[in-house]
Amino acid sequence: MVVMKFGGTSVANEEAISRTISIVEGKLSEKPIVVVSALSKVTDLLYKICDAASKKNRIEMLELSAQLRARHLELCEKLLGEDSDVLSAAKSKVDSICNELDTIVGAVCTLGELSERSKALIISAGEYLSSNIICSAMNLRGIKTKLMNARNMIVTGNDYMKAEPVLAEIEARVPAIVNEAFDGMDAVITQGFVSATLGGEPTVLGRGGSDYTASLIGMAIDAERIEIWTDVDGVKTADPRSVRSTLTLDRLSFEEAAEMAHFGAKVLHPLTIEPAVKKNIPIKVLNSTNPEGKGTTILHSDMIEDGVKSVSFKENILIINIFSTKMIDVSGFVAKVFGIFSEKNVSVDLISTSEANISVTVDASQENIDDVVKALSAFAKVELDYNKAQVSVIGKNIGGNNCMLKEIFSPVSEHTVYMVSQGASYINVSLVVDKSALQEVVQSIHDLLFFQAQMYDYIRYNGY
Ligand code: ADP
Ligand code: ASP
Ligand code: MG
Repeated sequence: MVVMKFGGTSVANEEAISRTISIVEGKLSEKPIVVVSALSKVTDLLYKICDAASKKNRIEMLELSAQLRARHLELCEKLLGEDSDVLSAAKSKVDSICNELDTIVGAVCTLGELSERSKALIISAGEYLSSNIICSAMNLRGIKTKLMNARNMIVTGNDYMKAEPVLAEIEARVPAIVNEAFDGMDAVITQGFVSATLGGEPTVLGRGGSDYTASLIGMAIDAERIEIWTDVDGVKTADPRSVRSTLTLDRLSFEEAAEMAHFGAKVLHPLTIEPAVKKNIPIKVLNSTNPEGKGTTILHSDMIEDGVKSVSFKENILIINIFSTKMIDVSGFVAKVFGIFSEKNVSVDLISTSEANISVTVDASQENIDDVVKALSAFAKVELDYNKAQVSVIGKNIGGNNCMLKEIFSPVSEHTVYMVSQGASYINVSLVVDKSALQEVVQSIHDLLFFQAQMYDYIRYNGY
C-alpha cells in the first residue's frame, strides 16, 4: 500500500482536483490511501470565522461562512455536474457540514467565548468538506473509493490545537480500519490534519498537519512509501518563494529533512519524519502540477552522502537572555529554567550558555511567552531581544567540516550575529541575525554554498 497526501494547492479547485485524481488513478495497483488537506486557504478562512465569532462580530462571521459554503457548492457543480444524483448528494453533504458549523460558530458568537476544543472542531471542517467532495469525484471517475473518518484512526492527547498522537493506539486501530475500507474498493480516502482523543473529542495536529497524518497512517500500515504531493518539484536548497535560483534535491536523510522542517522549511510538517523513521518508510515529495518529475526521496541516513543540503530560516524569532549569578556552580539551575519552558509549552530552538547566562531563541508567535518571562523573572534577570531571525544551514556532517563553517560565516561578516549554534549531531549550523538582514543573509549563504562553491571546485579541477 502507498499513502498519497495532497496539500491545499493540489486540491485548490476543479482543475487541481482532476489532476490529483489522475495521479491517484495511475497508482491503483499499489492500493492508494489518499489523505487530503482542505482546499487552499480554507483553513485560514476558518480561522477568520473563529476570530469574528469570538469577537461577537456576527455580520463578518456570517459573510465568511457564506463564502465557505459558496466555494464548496460551486466546486461540486464544476466537478460533479454531469451526474445529478451524485451532485445533489455531494451538495447536501456540503450543506450539512456548513449548517453544523454555523450552529457551532453561532453559539461561539453569542457567548463571545472560544475554547481550544471548539476551535479544533471548527477548523476541522475544511478537511471534511474537501474529502467528501473528492471522494464523490473519484467514484464518478470510476475509481471505487471509500471515505474513512480520520477521527477514528488518529488518536491523540487532549492538547486540542496541536495534539500529540498516541502511536500505540493508532498502530492498533488503523490496519483493521484500512483493510475493511478497501473491501471491494480501488482506493480509500481520509482527512489530513484532523484527529480525536480516545474519548472521541475533536483535536487537530497543528498547522500543516496533513503531512503528519500521512506518515502516521503509513507507519501504522507499514506502507511501502509515503508520498507528499505539493506545489514544488520536491525539497529544495531553500524556500523558492524567498530565495532565487534554488535547486531540487534528489535525496536527503530523514534527519536532514526533520531538521529542515523544524528550522523553518514549510514543505513538511516538522513531525512528519518521526513515524516514517520508526518503520524506515521512504517519503517522496512530489509536485502535483508536474507529476512526471522525479521529486525528492527521503531515506535512511546510511544511504545519503555527507554535505550541505539546504538553508532554512525562521523569520520571527525572539532571543530570551537569562542572567543569574546563582547559575554559577549551582546544579539544577538549568533544569529549573527549562522546566518553565516545558511547563508553559513554549518550545526552544537554539540554546547557548556561559557562566552566568543562558540565551535561547523561541519562535515569537508562540503563545505563553509572557508567562515564561514572568516565571523566569522571579529568580533571574531576563532581557528580550526582539525582531531577530534565524538562519540554519543543514546537511549531514557539515559541522565537522571547517571549510564549510568558514564559508557559512563569510557572507555574514557585514551583519551582527547574535547567536551561533552548532548542533551536537553536526547536521545543523544556525545563526541569529536581525530580521531586517534576513533576506540578504539567506540569499548570500545560499549562493555561496550552492553556486560559488561549485564554481571554485570547477576552477580548482579544470582551471579557468
Ligand atoms: P501543501 O499545501 O501542499 O502542504 P505547503 O505550502 O505547506 O504545501 O508547502 C509547500 C511550500 O513549502 C512551497 O510552496 C515552498 O514555498 C515552501 N518551502 C519552504 N521551504 C522549502 C524547501 N526547502 N523546499 C521546498 N519548498 C519549500
Ligand atoms: N488544512 C490544514 C492547514 O492549512 C492542514 C494542512 O494543510 O496540512 O494547516
Ligand atoms: Mg503543508
